[in-house]
Amino acid sequence: MSSPLYAVYGASGCGRGIMPMAKVQLEKLGVAPERLVFIDDAPTATHLNGHRVLTYDEFMASEADRRYAILAIANGAIREKLAKRCATDGVLSWSVRATNVITMDDVTLGEGAALSPFVTLTSNIRIGRHFHANLYSYVEHDCVIGDFVTFAPGVKCNGNIHIHDHAYIGADAVIKQGKPDCPLVIGRGAVVGMGAVVTRSVPPGATVVGNPAARLIRK
Ligand code: UDP
Repeated sequence: MSSPLYAVYGASGCGRGIMPMAKVQLEKLGVAPERLVFIDDAPTATHLNGHRVLTYDEFMASEADRRYAILAIANGAIREKLAKRCATDGVLSWSVRATNVITMDDVTLGEGAALSPFVTLTSNIRIGRHFHANLYSYVEHDCVIGDFVTFAPGVKCNGNIHIHDHAYIGADAVIKQGKPDCPLVIGRGAVVGMGAVVTRSVPPGATVVGNPAARLIRK
């Protein structure tokens, strides 16, 4: 009889950070270790950190009664592309979180989330699909976060902030608290640079850096 097959899609830096959490999560459910694999479309080895590395085609050809994949690639556009591919083929989304993640009251988290160690999501928060919150990031009260949003390690997302789809927030960025009637907005596809201190809303597609964060104009 076949059993479910679980995958961490992406066998590079991001995937290697998510795999150990996935392993612990599945061990608790009694899933055999060999039923957890990496998928990579350009594999550089057949095994990585004790797990098989399969191409997507190999994953699809493996015996399984259900297939799950978490998209473990920091680039949100690639995650969206792979999410569509997986949905078309009936591969189910799966969320992975560290054992010490804290979520408080009324937190809604979409499918395919990856929450790394020491992440905190406080209260009354809405988060979309395929969110990544890397090490030590937090999301404070009343935030609304879209789909395919990525937080590098140490992001401080304070209260009443809205972050639209595909935004990328760099390591150790701090985003100032908004107001209940006037949230601070990070627009769709915006990039917040490492260590930026964001005190004002950021337009869609803009890149901001520095303290206070200012828009980077590419010549
Ligand atoms: N990758 C993939 N399919 C894609 C795009 C990327 O399997 O459509 C893999 C790629 O081969 C690489 C990993 O995902 O192994 C992305 O690694 P990278 O170091 O670029 O990003 P990170 O792991 O930091 O997100």
